[in-house]
Amino acid sequence: MRVLIAGIDGYLGWTLAQYLVDTGHEVAGIDNYSRRSWVAEMDSWSAIPIAPMSERLQGFHERYREKLTFYEGDLQDYSLVEKVFNEFEPNAVVHLGECPSAPYSMIDRDHAVYVQTNNINSTFNLIFAIKDHSPETHLVKLGTMGEYGTPNTDIPEGFFDVEYRGRRDRFPYPRQAPSWYHWSKVHGSNNIMFACKTLGISATDIMQGVVFGTQIEQMGDDPRLSTRLDFDQAFGTAINRFACQAVIEHPLTPYGKGSQQRGFIPLRESMKCLKLAIENPAAMGEYRVFNQFAEVHSIDGLARTVQHVASGLGLDVEVKNLENPRMELEEHYYNPDHSKLRELGYTPTQSVEDEVRIMLSDLIPQRERIEEKKGSLLPDVQWGGYRRRSGYLGDIEAQAAEGQS
Ligand code: NAD
Repeated sequence: MRVLIAGIDGYLGWTLAQYLVDTGHEVAGIDNYSRRSWVAEMDSWSAIPIAPMSERLQGFHERYREKLTFYEGDLQDYSLVEKVFNEFEPNAVVHLGECPSAPYSMIDRDHAVYVQTNNINSTFNLIFAIKDHSPETHLVKLGTMGEYGTPNTDIPEGFFDVEYRGRRDRFPYPRQAPSWYHWSKVHGSNNIMFACKTLGISATDIMQGVVFGTQIEQMGDDPRLSTRLDFDQAFGTAINRFACQAVIEHPLTPYGKGSQQRGFIPLRESMKCLKLAIENPAAMGEYRVFNQFAEVHSIDGLARTVQHVASGLGLDVEVKNLENPRMELEEHYYNPDHSKLRELGYTPTQSVEDEVRIMLSDLIPQRERIEEKKGSLLPDVQWGGYRRRSGYLGDIEAQAAEGQS
């Protein structure tokens, strides 16, 4: 199949390009390198160095002997999106090209507006490019499990049956997003659901759990094929950030009690799931929702797992809970369904512990890079709407004390 990856320079996008080409698909991609700028704005960088796109493309060609067509530009530019559709004629488009950070969206008004505008407009452009130029192209859109929030009921895959005052109907399950970023995903989901109904396009909306991992086998040891791995407060997600903290023997810092539960999935398994969604498209006019994660864990439990694996590698790390900068329930029920991808053939195979062991061995050589930017590890973006610029490690002690009180 011809698969267009929107957001191909990102953590998932660069990995997915390799995974799909290696399994027989033809790939093109679009990116405007905004993720590189956002992380620089947070005064950080990827723990694993990433090559400029020109070098990435060269490395890709040498490894896979396949051409990867890359378009540099903004998904908000409809003329670019139209040009890509006309030239590449994709069978499927995987939309990863959004700003994925809750804390980044909570910095201030400008960041909230930017994240929502970027994410909603890019989705609109892909919807209309499909309608105008390629009505049979299947849209695979990355949403997030965060769209649902943490309701006190089981979470279905998108829809549920309701009986109210004696009448029954099937409704989209209510979304209770916890940040402006997560709401941008909800708005995208609603727009896609409406587009399937009115324009007749086919779409899979993937509510993905938190992804972790440094590599897939296909990357080998060519540094041009490595994907990024961030650890700053805005773009470093839970296990990835803990793994980077561990290799510099920095305390692991769950927020609040750490009893918050979330769905997690290793990078290599996220790739398998996306491939299944691409190869088994939704019907024309169908809007379907997959919950994509391997296992549910508490944040504190994951910090303990990273601590345990690190200790086996001779790394001595403490777990220090910080005052929670987010507004979220710390004690809650959490039981999301996740059977649709399993029905298509997905079986989780990699344990968190095994994946963390691989991550730590990939990250140990990058100690100096992480150490140099360790100031970006601690959260100063507060959900209350202001930013607290703090000092460094002295603050961890103070924050840990507050978090435990
Ligand atoms: P990422 O930031 O690494 O990748 C997104 C890519 O899109 C970046 O390379 C960025 O430069 C590009 N981009 C953003 N806006 C663009 C625009 N207007 N024009 C062109 N390019 C643009 O993020 P990721 O971790 O690879 O996540 C990909 C998607 O998956 C996101 O939508 C994210 O919300 C979703 N997701 C990720 C995770 C995770 O744990 N990584 C979990 C759940 C959902």
